[in-house]
Amino acid sequence: PQVSLIPVSALLKEVVLLTESEALMKGCQIDLHPFHDNMIISGDAKQMKQVVLNMIRNAMEAITERADDCIGKIEVGARREGAEVRIFISDNGKGMDICTLDRLFNPFFTTKENGTGLGLSVSDRIIKNHGGCISVSSRINVGTRFVISLPLIQ
Ligand code: ADP
Ligand code: MG
Repeated sequence: PQVSLIPVSALLKEVVLLTESEALMKGCQIDLHPFHDNMIISGDAKQMKQVVLNMIRNAMEAITERADDCIGKIEVGARREGAEVRIFISDNGKGMDICTLDRLFNPFFTTKENGTGLGLSVSDRIIKNHGGCISVSSRINVGTRFVISLPLIQ
């Protein structure tokens, strides 16, 4: 792993830019919430991007799989919480039932025909290795919110 100082704003901007056109083609919009704070984390930038990218991809897929057609919306942002940053990725996709919520971090758990079920288990490992954690809340046919908590460089 290549450890460096990572500005949270640059990390999120880069991943949103990378996924924006793909999202628009799938008919969903990605909003990056503005935050002026200069929040900096330490870690492997490539791994961090992989985590956020996987969550945005999951969000797009959850929107595509939602039964009723509503306008897909993904919100990405960050806020300071004491010595930590909370990065959130929310969507108004299909949501998850309790069985899925219980198992989504298990390796190879997937509800998708062509899913690997590795995205979240790998993400969980990466975030834990960086001294952080991932939490999730979800409601069927309403949406899902992932929150990544990580220690900030003071
Ligand atoms: P994969 O995307 O290959 O299925 P992941 O580890 O990324 O593997 O996700 C595991 C499972 O968690 C998914 O198959 C899906 O059922 C559920 N999931 C993850 N993110 C979301 C989300 N934003 N909305 C609804 N379900 C989700
Ligand atoms: Mg995935």
